[in-house]
Amino acid sequence: MNRFETFSTQFVQSVGSKEGAVSPTISGSASYAYGDPKTAEGIFEGSVKKPLYSRMGNPTTARLESIMAEMDGGIGAVATSSGMGATALATMSLLACGDEIISIGGLFGGTYSYFNETLSRFGIKTRFFEVDAYDAIAHAINDRTKIIFVESVGNPNMRLPDIKKIASIADEAGVVLIVDNTITPMSVSPLSLGADIVVYSTTKIISGNASALGGCAVFRSISEGEDKFKSPRYGFLEKFIKGAGAMALIPNAKKRALRDFGMSASPHASYQTMLGLETLPLRMERIVQSCQTIAQALHAKGFNVNHPSLTCHKDHVRYKQDFKNGCGTLLTLDFSTKERAFAFLSKTKIATLTANIGDSRTLALHMASTIYRDFGAEERTFLGITEGLVRVSIGLENPQDIINDFVAACQE
Ligand SMILES: *Cc1c(COP(=O)(O)O)cnc(C)c1O
Repeated sequence: MNRFETFSTQFVQSVGSKEGAVSPTISGSASYAYGDPKTAEGIFEGSVKKPLYSRMGNPTTARLESIMAEMDGGIGAVATSSGMGATALATMSLLACGDEIISIGGLFGGTYSYFNETLSRFGIKTRFFEVDAYDAIAHAINDRTKIIFVESVGNPNMRLPDIKKIASIADEAGVVLIVDNTITPMSVSPLSLGADIVVYSTTKIISGNASALGGCAVFRSISEGEDKFKSPRYGFLEKFIKGAGAMALIPNAKKRALRDFGMSASPHASYQTMLGLETLPLRMERIVQSCQTIAQALHAKGFNVNHPSLTCHKDHVRYKQDFKNGCGTLLTLDFSTKERAFAFLSKTKIATLTANIGDSRTLALHMASTIYRDFGAEERTFLGITEGLVRVSIGLENPQDIINDFVAACQE
Protein backbone atom coordinates (compact mmCIF):
# COMPACT_ATOMS: atom_id res chain seq x y z
CA MET A 1 0.00 0.00 0.00
CA ASN A 2 1.31 3.46 -0.75
CA ARG A 3 1.72 6.08 1.93
CA PHE A 4 -1.47 7.99 1.06
CA GLU A 5 -3.55 4.81 1.42
CA THR A 6 -1.92 3.80 4.73
CA PHE A 7 -2.49 7.23 6.25
CA SER A 8 -6.07 7.41 4.94
CA THR A 9 -6.99 4.32 6.94
CA GLN A 10 -5.03 5.42 10.00
CA PHE A 11 -6.47 8.94 10.22
CA VAL A 12 -10.18 8.25 9.73
CA GLN A 13 -9.98 5.32 12.12
CA SER A 14 -8.15 7.19 14.88
CA VAL A 15 -10.09 10.48 14.66
CA GLY A 16 -13.51 8.80 14.87
CA SER A 17 -14.84 6.82 17.84
CA LYS A 18 -16.61 3.47 17.66
CA GLU A 19 -18.75 4.28 20.72
CA GLY A 20 -20.62 7.41 21.72
CA ALA A 21 -19.88 10.66 19.87
CA VAL A 22 -18.23 9.73 16.56
CA SER A 23 -16.51 13.08 16.00
CA PRO A 24 -14.00 14.13 18.74
CA THR A 25 -15.56 15.98 21.67
CA ILE A 26 -14.41 19.54 22.34
CA SER A 27 -13.45 19.98 25.98
CA GLY A 28 -13.74 23.76 26.14
CA SER A 29 -12.96 24.26 29.83
CA ALA A 30 -9.86 26.27 30.74
CA SER A 31 -9.61 24.66 34.18
CA TYR A 32 -10.41 21.22 35.57
CA ALA A 33 -11.76 20.49 39.05
CA TYR A 34 -9.93 17.89 41.11
CA GLY A 35 -12.74 16.93 43.54
CA ASP A 36 -10.59 16.22 46.58
CA PRO A 37 -7.14 17.30 47.80
CA LYS A 38 -5.53 13.86 47.43
CA THR A 39 -6.47 13.74 43.76
CA ALA A 40 -5.17 17.29 43.34
CA GLU A 41 -1.86 16.24 44.87
CA GLY A 42 -1.70 13.16 42.61
CA ILE A 43 -2.39 15.21 39.48
CA PHE A 44 0.36 17.70 40.26
CA GLU A 45 2.74 14.89 41.19
CA GLY A 46 1.91 13.07 37.94
CA SER A 47 0.67 9.82 39.47
CA VAL A 48 -2.99 10.61 38.64
CA LYS A 49 -3.58 10.98 34.89
CA LYS A 50 -6.27 13.65 34.81
CA PRO A 51 -6.27 17.16 33.31
CA LEU A 52 -4.46 19.73 35.46
CA TYR A 53 -5.15 23.01 33.68
CA SER A 54 -5.69 23.66 29.98
CA ARG A 55 -2.36 25.47 29.50
CA MET A 56 -0.56 22.22 30.45
CA GLY A 57 -2.82 19.84 28.53
CA ASN A 58 -6.38 19.44 27.32
CA PRO A 59 -8.32 16.23 26.54
CA THR A 60 -9.27 17.32 22.99
CA THR A 61 -5.71 18.43 22.27
CA ALA A 62 -4.38 15.18 23.81
CA ARG A 63 -6.29 13.23 21.19
CA LEU A 64 -4.71 15.25 18.40
CA GLU A 65 -1.30 14.76 20.03
CA SER A 66 -1.63 10.98 20.11
CA ILE A 67 -2.66 10.88 16.43
CA MET A 68 0.25 13.16 15.41
CA ALA A 69 2.71 11.04 17.46
CA GLU A 70 1.47 7.85 15.78
CA MET A 71 1.61 9.52 12.36
CA ASP A 72 5.33 10.21 12.83
CA GLY A 73 6.30 7.10 14.78
CA GLY A 74 7.14 9.27 17.80
CA ILE A 75 6.61 8.41 21.47
CA GLY A 76 4.60 11.56 22.14
CA ALA A 77 3.69 15.01 20.89
CA VAL A 78 2.83 18.45 22.23
CA ALA A 79 0.34 20.51 20.24
CA THR A 80 0.76 24.29 20.29
CA SER A 81 -1.08 27.49 19.43
CA SER A 82 0.74 27.87 16.07
CA GLY A 83 3.60 26.48 14.02
CA MET A 84 5.92 29.15 15.44
CA GLY A 85 4.73 27.98 18.88
CA ALA A 86 5.90 24.44 18.04
CA THR A 87 9.33 25.65 16.88
CA ALA A 88 9.60 27.85 19.99
CA LEU A 89 8.59 24.96 22.26
CA ALA A 90 11.00 22.45 20.71
CA THR A 91 13.94 24.86 20.71
CA MET A 92 13.38 26.76 23.99
CA SER A 93 13.09 23.47 25.89
CA LEU A 94 16.69 22.65 24.85
CA LEU A 95 18.49 26.01 24.78
CA ALA A 96 20.28 28.23 27.26
CA CYS A 97 22.23 31.46 26.95
CA GLY A 98 25.54 30.87 25.10
CA ASP A 99 24.22 27.95 23.04
CA GLU A 100 24.36 27.72 19.26
CA ILE A 101 22.01 26.56 16.52
CA ILE A 102 22.99 25.37 13.08
CA SER A 103 20.26 26.16 10.57
CA ILE A 104 20.42 24.43 7.20
CA GLY A 105 18.82 25.42 3.92
CA GLY A 106 15.93 27.64 2.95
CA LEU A 107 13.87 28.76 5.87
CA PHE A 108 10.38 30.05 6.60
CA GLY A 109 10.66 33.80 7.25
CA GLY A 110 9.27 33.63 10.79
CA THR A 111 11.76 30.94 11.78
CA TYR A 112 14.61 32.92 10.29
CA SER A 113 13.79 36.06 12.27
CA TYR A 114 13.11 34.02 15.43
CA PHE A 115 16.65 32.61 15.20
CA ASN A 116 18.39 35.69 13.91
CA GLU A 117 16.66 38.55 15.70
CA THR A 118 14.90 37.14 18.76
CA LEU A 119 17.06 34.29 20.06
CA SER A 120 20.18 36.38 19.42
CA ARG A 121 18.88 38.88 22.02
CA PHE A 122 19.06 36.06 24.58
CA GLY A 123 22.66 35.16 23.76
CA ILE A 124 21.86 32.30 21.39
CA LYS A 125 23.75 32.35 18.12
CA THR A 126 22.53 30.77 14.88
CA ARG A 127 24.73 29.97 11.93
CA PHE A 128 23.08 29.48 8.55
CA PHE A 129 24.26 27.05 5.87
CA GLU A 130 23.30 26.03 2.36
CA VAL A 131 21.48 22.73 2.12
CA ASP A 132 24.48 20.79 0.72
CA ALA A 133 27.31 22.41 2.73
CA TYR A 134 28.03 19.18 4.65
CA ASP A 135 31.71 19.84 5.39
CA ALA A 136 31.07 23.38 6.61
CA ILE A 137 28.20 22.12 8.77
CA ALA A 138 30.24 19.34 10.37
CA HIS A 139 33.07 21.81 10.90
CA ALA A 140 30.79 24.40 12.58
CA ILE A 141 29.58 22.02 15.30
CA ASN A 142 31.19 22.71 18.66
CA ASP A 143 30.52 22.10 22.37
CA ARG A 144 27.92 24.85 22.49
CA THR A 145 25.88 23.50 19.54
CA LYS A 146 22.56 22.20 20.85
CA ILE A 147 20.37 22.07 17.76
CA ILE A 148 20.65 21.43 14.05
CA PHE A 149 17.52 22.69 12.31
CA VAL A 150 16.30 22.00 8.78
CA GLU A 151 13.07 22.26 6.79
CA SER A 152 12.08 19.15 4.81
CA VAL A 153 11.46 21.46 1.83
CA GLY A 154 12.80 25.00 1.82
CA ASN A 155 9.94 27.53 1.89
CA PRO A 156 10.06 29.37 -0.48
CA ASN A 157 13.42 28.41 -2.07
CA MET A 158 12.20 24.85 -2.87
CA ARG A 159 15.55 23.20 -2.03
CA LEU A 160 15.34 19.61 -0.78
CA PRO A 161 17.73 18.49 1.96
CA ASP A 162 19.24 15.03 2.31
CA ILE A 163 17.73 14.48 5.77
CA LYS A 164 19.38 11.10 6.24
CA LYS A 165 22.83 12.53 5.60
CA ILE A 166 22.22 15.55 7.85
CA ALA A 167 20.92 13.19 10.58
CA SER A 168 24.11 11.14 10.38
CA ILE A 169 26.21 14.31 10.80
CA ALA A 170 24.06 15.27 13.80
CA ASP A 171 24.35 11.78 15.29
CA GLU A 172 28.09 11.63 14.87
CA ALA A 173 28.43 14.93 16.73
CA GLY A 174 25.79 13.99 19.34
CA VAL A 175 23.64 16.99 18.47
CA VAL A 176 19.83 17.05 18.24
CA LEU A 177 18.26 17.32 14.78
CA ILE A 178 14.92 19.15 14.53
CA VAL A 179 13.04 19.00 11.21
CA ASP A 180 10.23 21.39 10.28
CA ASN A 181 8.02 18.93 8.38
CA THR A 182 5.04 21.16 7.69
CA ILE A 183 4.77 19.35 4.31
CA THR A 184 3.72 16.32 6.44
CA PRO A 185 4.76 12.62 6.48
CA MET A 186 2.76 12.11 3.28
CA SER A 187 6.09 13.21 1.75
CA VAL A 188 8.82 12.39 4.30
CA SER A 189 9.03 10.81 7.77
CA PRO A 190 11.95 12.58 9.49
CA LEU A 191 12.07 10.39 12.63
CA SER A 192 12.55 7.28 10.49
CA LEU A 193 15.45 9.06 8.73
CA GLY A 194 17.20 9.80 12.03
CA ALA A 195 15.73 13.13 13.21
CA ASP A 196 15.02 13.56 16.94
CA ILE A 197 12.15 16.07 16.96
CA VAL A 198 9.71 17.05 14.21
CA VAL A 199 7.75 20.30 14.24
CA TYR A 200 4.67 21.26 12.24
CA SER A 201 2.56 24.21 11.41
CA THR A 202 -0.81 22.41 11.34
CA THR A 203 -2.32 25.70 10.15
CA LYS A 204 -1.28 24.76 6.63
CA ILE A 205 -2.12 21.56 4.72
CA ILE A 206 -3.06 19.57 7.86
CA SER A 207 -6.06 21.77 8.69
CA GLY A 208 -6.22 22.62 5.02
CA ASN A 209 -8.80 25.37 4.89
CA ALA A 210 -7.67 28.34 6.97
CA SER A 211 -10.00 27.30 9.80
CA ALA A 212 -7.49 26.86 12.64
CA LEU A 213 -4.11 28.20 13.67
CA GLY A 214 -2.02 25.45 15.24
CA GLY A 215 1.28 23.61 15.54
CA CYS A 216 2.71 20.41 16.96
CA ALA A 217 6.08 19.03 18.04
CA VAL A 218 6.60 15.26 17.88
CA PHE A 219 9.37 13.63 19.92
CA ARG A 220 11.21 10.35 19.56
CA SER A 221 11.68 8.01 22.51
CA ILE A 222 14.92 8.01 24.47
CA SER A 223 16.61 4.64 24.17
CA GLU A 224 17.43 2.47 27.16
CA GLY A 225 21.07 2.16 26.19
CA GLU A 226 23.29 4.89 24.81
CA ASP A 227 21.52 8.02 23.63
CA LYS A 228 22.74 11.51 22.70
CA PHE A 229 20.14 12.98 25.07
CA LYS A 230 22.02 11.31 27.97
CA SER A 231 25.29 13.11 27.18
CA PRO A 232 26.55 16.10 29.23
CA ARG A 233 25.49 18.38 26.32
CA TYR A 234 21.89 17.81 27.44
CA GLY A 235 22.63 17.32 31.16
CA PHE A 236 19.49 19.23 32.17
CA LEU A 237 17.44 16.26 30.88
CA GLU A 238 18.82 13.87 33.48
CA LYS A 239 16.02 14.39 36.00
CA PHE A 240 13.35 13.94 33.32
CA ILE A 241 15.02 10.76 32.07
CA LYS A 242 15.05 9.46 35.67
CA GLY A 243 11.37 10.28 36.10
CA ALA A 244 9.88 9.54 32.68
CA GLY A 245 12.45 7.29 30.96
CA ALA A 246 11.78 6.95 27.21
CA MET A 247 9.13 9.72 27.42
CA ALA A 248 11.51 12.30 28.98
CA LEU A 249 11.32 14.83 26.13
CA ILE A 250 7.58 15.34 26.74
CA PRO A 251 7.72 16.56 30.38
CA ASN A 252 10.84 18.55 29.50
CA ALA A 253 8.96 20.35 26.71
CA LYS A 254 5.88 20.85 28.88
CA LYS A 255 7.73 22.18 31.90
CA ARG A 256 10.52 24.11 30.17
CA ALA A 257 8.33 25.67 27.47
CA LEU A 258 4.57 25.06 27.52
CA ARG A 259 4.04 25.84 31.20
CA ASP A 260 6.30 28.88 31.27
CA PHE A 261 5.70 30.41 27.83
CA GLY A 262 2.10 29.29 27.34
CA MET A 263 2.02 28.53 23.60
CA SER A 264 -0.81 26.08 24.32
CA ALA A 265 -3.22 24.81 21.64
CA SER A 266 -6.87 25.82 21.79
CA PRO A 267 -9.17 22.77 22.02
CA HIS A 268 -11.38 24.25 19.29
CA ALA A 269 -8.37 24.50 16.99
CA SER A 270 -7.34 20.93 17.90
CA TYR A 271 -10.81 19.74 16.88
CA GLN A 272 -10.64 21.53 13.51
CA THR A 273 -7.13 20.15 12.98
CA MET A 274 -8.36 16.57 13.49
CA LEU A 275 -11.13 17.12 10.95
CA GLY A 276 -8.44 18.29 8.55
CA LEU A 277 -6.25 15.24 9.23
CA GLU A 278 -9.06 12.91 8.14
CA THR A 279 -8.86 14.12 4.54
CA LEU A 280 -5.15 15.11 4.42
CA PRO A 281 -4.00 12.09 2.37
CA LEU A 282 -6.73 12.62 -0.25
CA ARG A 283 -6.02 16.33 -0.60
CA MET A 284 -2.26 15.86 -0.63
CA GLU A 285 -2.31 13.16 -3.29
CA ARG A 286 -4.31 15.43 -5.60
CA ILE A 287 -2.26 18.55 -4.89
CA VAL A 288 1.19 16.99 -5.40
CA GLN A 289 -0.04 15.60 -8.73
CA SER A 290 -1.41 19.04 -9.69
CA CYS A 291 1.87 20.73 -8.68
CA GLN A 292 3.80 18.56 -11.14
CA THR A 293 1.26 19.04 -13.92
CA ILE A 294 1.13 22.81 -13.42
CA ALA A 295 4.91 23.23 -13.00
CA GLN A 296 5.52 21.34 -16.25
CA ALA A 297 2.80 23.14 -18.22
CA LEU A 298 3.87 26.63 -17.09
CA HIS A 299 7.55 25.81 -17.67
CA ALA A 300 6.67 24.73 -21.23
CA LYS A 301 4.83 28.02 -21.74
CA GLY A 302 7.93 30.00 -20.81
CA PHE A 303 7.20 30.81 -17.15
CA ASN A 304 10.23 30.87 -14.84
CA VAL A 305 9.03 28.07 -12.53
CA ASN A 306 10.86 26.69 -9.50
CA HIS A 307 9.72 23.17 -8.57
CA PRO A 308 11.89 20.06 -7.94
CA SER A 309 9.80 17.96 -10.35
CA LEU A 310 11.39 19.90 -13.24
CA THR A 311 14.52 18.25 -14.64
CA CYS A 312 16.35 21.62 -14.59
CA HIS A 313 15.92 21.92 -10.78
CA LYS A 314 19.07 21.51 -8.65
CA ASP A 315 17.46 18.83 -6.46
CA HIS A 316 15.58 16.94 -9.18
CA VAL A 317 17.53 13.71 -8.53
CA ARG A 318 16.77 13.88 -4.81
CA TYR A 319 13.12 14.59 -5.62
CA LYS A 320 12.99 11.42 -7.73
CA GLN A 321 14.72 9.32 -5.07
CA ASP A 322 13.50 10.61 -1.71
CA PHE A 323 10.29 12.50 -2.47
CA LYS A 324 8.31 9.94 -4.44
CA ASN A 325 5.08 11.31 -2.93
CA GLY A 326 5.83 14.90 -3.84
CA CYS A 327 7.14 17.74 -1.71
CA GLY A 328 4.07 19.66 -0.61
CA THR A 329 1.83 22.28 -2.16
CA LEU A 330 4.30 25.00 -3.20
CA LEU A 331 5.93 26.17 -6.39
CA THR A 332 7.34 29.58 -7.14
CA LEU A 333 7.21 31.81 -10.22
CA ASP A 334 9.83 34.44 -10.89
CA PHE A 335 8.53 37.41 -12.88
CA SER A 336 11.91 39.26 -12.76
CA THR A 337 10.44 42.55 -11.55
CA LYS A 338 8.03 43.64 -8.85
CA GLU A 339 5.88 45.39 -11.49
CA ARG A 340 5.39 42.23 -13.55
CA ALA A 341 4.69 40.17 -10.40
CA PHE A 342 2.09 42.73 -9.28
CA ALA A 343 0.51 42.74 -12.75
CA PHE A 344 0.14 38.94 -12.60
CA LEU A 345 -1.27 39.02 -9.07
CA SER A 346 -3.75 41.74 -10.02
CA LYS A 347 -5.04 39.71 -12.97
CA THR A 348 -5.25 36.15 -11.64
CA LYS A 349 -8.85 35.25 -10.87
CA ILE A 350 -8.13 31.89 -9.23
CA ALA A 351 -5.38 32.70 -6.73
CA THR A 352 -6.26 34.20 -3.35
CA LEU A 353 -3.58 36.65 -2.19
CA THR A 354 -2.64 35.70 1.36
CA ALA A 355 0.36 34.69 3.49
CA ASN A 356 -1.03 31.20 4.14
CA ILE A 357 -0.07 27.97 2.27
CA GLY A 358 -1.58 24.48 2.01
CA ASP A 359 -5.17 25.64 1.59
CA SER A 360 -7.96 23.98 -0.43
CA ARG A 361 -7.80 27.09 -2.61
CA THR A 362 -4.83 28.18 -4.70
CA LEU A 363 -2.97 31.00 -2.93
CA ALA A 364 -0.28 33.38 -4.17
CA LEU A 365 1.84 36.19 -2.77
CA HIS A 366 4.69 38.47 -3.83
CA MET A 367 7.47 37.65 -1.36
CA ALA A 368 9.78 40.71 -1.28
CA SER A 369 7.02 43.24 -0.57
CA THR A 370 5.27 41.18 2.14
CA ILE A 371 6.77 38.42 4.33
CA TYR A 372 10.36 39.40 3.51
CA ARG A 373 9.92 43.20 3.41
CA ASP A 374 12.00 43.73 6.58
CA PHE A 375 14.88 41.56 5.35
CA GLY A 376 18.16 43.02 4.08
CA ALA A 377 19.57 42.32 0.60
CA GLU A 378 22.03 39.70 1.84
CA GLU A 379 19.41 37.80 3.82
CA ARG A 380 17.04 37.85 0.84
CA THR A 381 19.72 36.45 -1.42
CA PHE A 382 20.45 33.65 1.05
CA LEU A 383 16.75 32.80 1.35
CA GLY A 384 16.24 32.96 -2.43
CA ILE A 385 13.94 35.99 -2.40
CA THR A 386 14.26 37.78 -5.73
CA GLU A 387 12.46 41.00 -6.77
CA GLY A 388 9.87 39.27 -8.94
CA LEU A 389 9.31 36.15 -6.82
CA VAL A 390 5.73 34.96 -6.35
CA ARG A 391 5.04 31.98 -4.11
CA VAL A 392 2.11 29.85 -5.18
CA SER A 393 0.38 27.24 -3.05
CA ILE A 394 -1.61 24.96 -5.33
CA GLY A 395 -5.13 24.06 -4.23
CA LEU A 396 -7.80 21.51 -5.09
CA GLU A 397 -9.11 23.28 -8.20
CA ASN A 398 -8.88 21.56 -11.56
CA PRO A 399 -5.20 21.92 -12.59
CA GLN A 400 -6.07 22.93 -16.15
CA ASP A 401 -8.24 25.78 -14.78
CA ILE A 402 -5.21 27.02 -12.81
CA ILE A 403 -2.92 26.79 -15.85
CA ASN A 404 -5.43 28.66 -18.05
CA ASP A 405 -5.93 31.36 -15.43
CA PHE A 406 -2.18 31.87 -14.89
CA VAL A 407 -1.53 32.10 -18.64
CA ALA A 408 -4.37 34.59 -19.04
CA ALA A 409 -3.06 36.64 -16.10
CA CYS A 410 0.25 37.11 -17.96
CA GLN A 411 -1.30 38.51 -21.09
CA GLU A 412 -1.05 42.26 -21.60
C1 LIG B 1 3.68 28.70 8.29
C2 LIG B 1 4.91 27.99 8.64
C3 LIG B 1 5.42 28.06 9.93
C4 LIG B 1 4.75 28.88 11.01
O1 LIG B 1 3.49 28.38 11.31
P1 LIG B 1 2.30 29.27 11.94
O2 LIG B 1 1.22 28.24 12.17
O3 LIG B 1 1.93 30.30 10.94
O4 LIG B 1 2.83 29.84 13.20
C5 LIG B 1 6.59 27.36 10.20
N1 LIG B 1 7.21 26.63 9.25
C6 LIG B 1 6.73 26.53 8.00
C7 LIG B 1 7.46 25.69 7.00
C8 LIG B 1 5.57 27.21 7.64
O5 LIG B 1 5.11 27.11 6.39
